Amino acid sequence: MDAYKKIHLLSQELIPVINDLDHEPEQIILDHIKDCEDCRKLYANTVNFDENIPEPDYANDVEVKPLKKLVQFNTGLKLLLIALRAIILFYIFYSSFSYYDVESAAMILASFQGAIFLFYMPAAVFLLVFTITFFNKKWVWTSFITDLMIIIFLDNIVQLFL
Ligand SMILES: [Zn+2]
Repeated sequence: MDAYKKIHLLSQELIPVINDLDHEPEQIILDHIKDCEDCRKLYANTVNFDENIPEPDYANDVEVKPLKKLVQFNTGLKLLLIALRAIILFYIFYSSFSYYDVESAAMILASFQGAIFLFYMPAAVFLLVFTITFFNKKWVWTSFITDLMIIIFLDNIVQLFL
């Protein structure tokens, strides 16, 4: 089996999960796609499929390949990780600002900082471990840097509005 055929076989397996690959393997597949009609078609289907993910078609569920189910599961997990952070932040904002009329700005800020420290930080650590287990380096760094910015800078932004 020559190198082209080997790359073709691997591409056929990996194209459905191309969004979760690291940069180098992704680039190898994208290079291969340029010369390979089959893989180009598969890639086009995958891109279409990704755009259609939010509404799973249960009528065709039996025909969905296991790998595609994995991709759906994967996307669902990512949305869940983002939603969890949003809910925690909403709760922190809500609880800090609920006494806006009766408390001083310093109290609100202190309550906000306390809540970030008590609720958001442990959640971020837990979600980071979860992300390391299930996702690639790109996602680990993205979520790590996002959480770091939220923990370090969000109270400064909140302060501007008090
Ligand atoms: Zn190919």
